[in-house]
Amino acid sequence: MEQRHNRIYLDHAATTRTRQEAVSAMLPYFTELYGNPSSVYEFAAEPKRAIAAARKILADSIGAAPSEIYFTSGGSESDNWALTAAAELGEKEGKKHIITTAIEHHAILNTCSYLEERGFDVTCLRPDEQGCVSPESVEAAIRPDTCLISVMAANNEIGTIEPVREIGMIARKHGILFHTDAVQAYGHMRIDVKECGIDMMSASAHKLNGPRGVGFLYIRRGVRVRSYIRGGAQEHGRRAGTENTPGIVGFGKAAELAFAELDEHAETERKLRDHLLGRILTEIPDTVLNGAESRLSNNINVTFRGADAESILIMLDMQGICASGGSACASGSLDPSHVLTAIGRSEEDARAAVRLTVGYENTEEEMDYAADRLKEIVARIRRMRGAEHSSGR
Ligand SMILES: *Cc1c(COP(=O)(O)O)cnc(C)c1O
Repeated sequence: MEQRHNRIYLDHAATTRTRQEAVSAMLPYFTELYGNPSSVYEFAAEPKRAIAAARKILADSIGAAPSEIYFTSGGSESDNWALTAAAELGEKEGKKHIITTAIEHHAILNTCSYLEERGFDVTCLRPDEQGCVSPESVEAAIRPDTCLISVMAANNEIGTIEPVREIGMIARKHGILFHTDAVQAYGHMRIDVKECGIDMMSASAHKLNGPRGVGFLYIRRGVRVRSYIRGGAQEHGRRAGTENTPGIVGFGKAAELAFAELDEHAETERKLRDHLLGRILTEIPDTVLNGAESRLSNNINVTFRGADAESILIMLDMQGICASGGSACASGSLDPSHVLTAIGRSEEDARAAVRLTVGYENTEEEMDYAADRLKEIVARIRRMRGAEHSSGR
């Protein structure tokens, strides 16, 4: 059943393998226990119970109440919902200013652009050169018409962990709604929504070894967010549609295990990461680490000066290694990453950045194999480019 092939997967920030325990927990809800949880007959009772159990696990994991967890189709939907709902609430009071950061995921940035088209004013804060958004800069950006502050919990490209608690306290002091995109952080670090003053938080199952296509939005009780998908009375009447029972069950199981094993996994990942990173920085010249010391335990983002990420990634792929550019891949061409340019990297350095994100299932042998291949590949690309330059091209 479990085929690992000859592949070295170093792209856990993009998605993760759905763990077997989650798959096993999900299976009966496809084939045997398929009753619609909203139905009244006995056959619907078990799916309904399973959803309630998953909701409780997820709520407990962030210090929330089950009634504050709303299932969605994933992180992107949660982000879209949080921002458009907060904007609508603000608009009713004549407040049309939103504060966010230049290093958010596109689910946030593109929703902000959409809101700008609708007359909202968006302040995009620049982080420092390590990718850290200062709470002072957030406070300084607040205006009388600010209706929302949205700052991610940890960055998906460079792994920088943001001072969410400090920002939450500032938002609370000023009576402004605070949303955090915790999609990359959730299940990898502990976040207590009450302690951090978070009003809304996005999470997604497939970043913590759960299934793709399911996530949640935490909405603090008392935040009067309108429904996002109109229809039936599911999700406390705020997000209609027959529940994705298998997905929700798989999310619950994956989260339960991720939090039980969080310290152990973080330790394993940190060791693997530091081993690979150590080899890259010492054995490959002209290499710079992007991001901060205070970063997710699985994240490496490095610029190989004088090489380009596109060629590196293609050659890594030929060696069976999955990694990612520090760049968004748009229609086949690699645009320099908005995150790397926001932390002050030149366009050239941003185009030479590679993201390697490890998982607890990786091994030290895999790290060594990846380091060996990277060393060869980067040297080869630099030689090729050097030859191009000296031949006057
Ligand atoms: C992956 C990711 C998303 C999108 O989540 P999906 O479940 O894939 O829609 C949003 N924000 C961040 C920070 C992410 O890492």
